[in-house]
Amino acid sequence: MQSNEAFLAYESVRHRLPATSKIGECRYLLNLEDLVDEIDVFFLDAFGVLNIGDSAINGVPERISKLQSIGKKILIVSNAGGFPHELLMKKYKNLGYNFASEDVITSRKALLKGLTNLPSKKYGLMATKSLGRADLENIDVTYLSENMTEYDNSEAFLLLGSAVWTEVRQEMLLDSLRRNSRPIYVGNPDIIAPREEGFSVEPGSFAHRIADSTGISPEFFGKPFKNIFDLAFKRLGDYNPERTVMVGDSLHTDILGGQTAGLKTALISGHGFFSGQNVDGPIASSGIVPDFILKDP
Ligand SMILES: [Mg+2]
Repeated sequence: MQSNEAFLAYESVRHRLPATSKIGECRYLLNLEDLVDEIDVFFLDAFGVLNIGDSAINGVPERISKLQSIGKKILIVSNAGGFPHELLMKKYKNLGYNFASEDVITSRKALLKGLTNLPSKKYGLMATKSLGRADLENIDVTYLSENMTEYDNSEAFLLLGSAVWTEVRQEMLLDSLRRNSRPIYVGNPDIIAPREEGFSVEPGSFAHRIADSTGISPEFFGKPFKNIFDLAFKRLGDYNPERTVMVGDSLHTDILGGQTAGLKTALISGHGFFSGQNVDGPIASSGIVPDFILKDP
């Protein structure tokens, strides 16, 4: 999938996303350091801000470390659904970042928190088995593969990671759901994620396709939905929303989500989703207008 295609895919599911609540000022700045006078707390997206795939974005580990050293509060707010938390922390460390485990707020955490409020069920799981079951030890999950009974015996479905998901599995899930409708919980609402070579298709894409063809309304955990920001606010304690910014490369998840949560927003224009493109057109046509546009994180 290319970014213009991904943009249109997000536009086509706007009825399932929060409505826009604010029009930002769209001030063009160079990078995060230009915000130090007016911002105390930075919520950072990961893919497209900290890293592209498995590489840190040039100069960003140093810049973040500088912000931390002058007392700025940095929280990661990421739609990372598929990675066990400990593995994710190792990944950030290897990329050159230094964050406390509790300051990394993920859609996986938001989903697991959400499940604790529901009666326990047998879940069919979309996830990569080789990453292990850490964080999920207390949940009854069956990895979904090519065996139809795995689908038919599930009481609900968790969509966490789609790296090994296939069209065959998607068809089996759809077939099972058409015969017996059940709840879908999505631990990563993203449609795509930027990788070194193009974009990968993420669980949100499969969830929206299920919704389109079955009429089931999946429950989404992560940006742009409020549940992940509520976890971040809980971690933060007292904060001033006027001096807190959500920084990310996606209009439909980071900027829309930040605005829904009542925060300032900054779109990264030079990396990730809109890398190599002009952002003015997408901002105008989506009506999702950030407060700041930063060339680099
Ligand atoms: Mg991103």
